[in-house]
Amino acid sequence: MRACDGCTLCCKLEKIPELNKPRCILCMYCDLGVGCAIYEDRPGRCQGFQCGWLTSDMPDEMRPDKAHLYISHVDSQIANIMVDPEYPGAWAVGIGKAVVEGVRKGGRHAIVLVGDQVTFLPGYGVQRPEKLVLDWEL
Ligand code: SF4
Ligand code: SF4
Repeated sequence: MRACDGCTLCCKLEKIPELNKPRCILCMYCDLGVGCAIYEDRPGRCQGFQCGWLTSDMPDEMRPDKAHLYISHVDSQIANIMVDPEYPGAWAVGIGKAVVEGVRKGGRHAIVLVGDQVTFLPGYGVQRPEKLVLDWEL
């Protein structure tokens, strides 16, 4: 598996209850662009988190800190895409759009999360759901 290797975007975007860290605020233990200052003792939620780029063969240029977004959760129907609010339009252009379109072309619906804004983009060639129930930790 590849390494984060200096990407620290999830240390900003993810909520870490063990640290009382809200979403979209850089963790106090994050050495920006380097890694975690408490890596050996980081909370379980951090230990368990792997974004879609880290666990796939997506191109290097789709690395989250370059694309300004990442796939945070995926199941058979839906992929959640977390976007850095500093780059709120990143999902609609360039490499970020390519990530979103890759999800849709793969037959999954994309849920794009930018701060408190949620955008639903249906997958291509699959049936639209009749309703959407979000399980989203604010
Ligand atoms: S967003 Fe992905 S690649 Fe970046 S630090 Fe988190 S797990 Fe690693
Ligand atoms: S504790 Fe470490 S791994 Fe967890 S969010 Fe903070 S900097 Fe990232």
